[in-house]
Amino acid sequence: MARLTLDHVTKRYGDVVAVDELGLRVTDGEFVTLVGPSGCGKSTTIEIIAGLTEPTDGSVHIGDREVTTLPPKDRGIAMVFQNIALFPHLNVFKNVSFGLRLRDYETAEIERRVDRAMEIVQLEGMRNRQPEELSGGQRQRVAIARAIVRNPDVFLMDEPLANLDASLRSHMRTELQRLHKQLDTTVVYVTHDQAEAMTMSDRIAVINDGEIQQFAPPLACYNEPRNLFVAGFIGSPGMNLIDGTMTDEGFGSRAIGVSFDPPPDRPDAVTLGVRPEDVYLADSERGSGLSVPSTAIDAVADVIEPMGDETFVYFLCSETAEPDETASDPDATQLLASVPPETDVEEDEPVRLVLDRSRIHLFDTASGEAITHGLDSDATAGAQREADAERE
Ligand code: ADP
Repeated sequence: MARLTLDHVTKRYGDVVAVDELGLRVTDGEFVTLVGPSGCGKSTTIEIIAGLTEPTDGSVHIGDREVTTLPPKDRGIAMVFQNIALFPHLNVFKNVSFGLRLRDYETAEIERRVDRAMEIVQLEGMRNRQPEELSGGQRQRVAIARAIVRNPDVFLMDEPLANLDASLRSHMRTELQRLHKQLDTTVVYVTHDQAEAMTMSDRIAVINDGEIQQFAPPLACYNEPRNLFVAGFIGSPGMNLIDGTMTDEGFGSRAIGVSFDPPPDRPDAVTLGVRPEDVYLADSERGSGLSVPSTAIDAVADVIEPMGDETFVYFLCSETAEPDETASDPDATQLLASVPPETDVEEDEPVRLVLDRSRIHLFDTASGEAITHGLDSDATAGAQREADAERE
């Protein structure tokens, strides 16, 4: 168990900057996930931590030791990869104990460590199986057991679940959380799957273009994304992002207006963000019960996707209140709402929507930086009430 520190870590491949001045402080025993789209630099970062790739610049510390140029075997790390490389001709016991036997550990110590690891990954009784006799999930657990027996200070996992089918993946997510609780080891985990990042991590580092966009607990990234990239990347389906302008009255776009007192030094071009679960049918119980609703927005239901536990409705909003014109307007604004499954909304039906003002985000469109999360202050609510009164 140890803390891990990356300082100004940079990796260049010719003109490509794979990792750009990356700084990261992982505390002792923390489960940190590096998440981001393909090519953002996640694998390069974890390979630099592991010692498989040398950084062009910057340093890596594990505990108090600088390990930047140390070979992987001297770093106190163990790594689990996406491709599970078990020796096909060795049984489970020999695969798990391979590294220990190579280092001439005593037989009793090997037995003790393997027994414990097999118990943790719940593979007791499978010591004599050959890899070909195991399922994909069991093979991945053997790979994890092989990492556990080394008692690493830091566990590194690079997309370990990517090759498993969906149900096994969600099962293994729970297993890894249990494993982390049991081992109490520092874990750095790489994935492109934001659901994996959200469910398992103490903190997630959202990476884009080799740079950390936000490093925070999952719900902080979800509720208070620092910029447009994080807002769009975290959450599935993603946040509605609507470009518009900020005036003295508040936010305005072709189809959607929300009034509030703008902050000082406001940029002109702003993007309004609202998650699907914060868009309500104005006439529904939940919509009319909102403590700080926005002004109602005219919309037409375009596509309806029942998911069972919730229903996604893609609405179209246009500056005209005429449903037919909205439906055929190529520039209509799409607004995705997650509504209760018992909704009676039908395709092409005109409706009125309200947004939960306390859950509206505003971003500076040019820089992408967040301006505010939530428009529920007295000042903004007051401005909204005036606007509503004027409308009526
Ligand atoms: P991720 O794991 O997020 O998909 P990577 O760390 O693999 O991203 O890659 C980051 C960037 O660095 C990409 O643009 C990739 O093409 C480039 N890259 C990675 N490895 C090499 C390499 N060995 N040679 C040249 N470019 C590389």
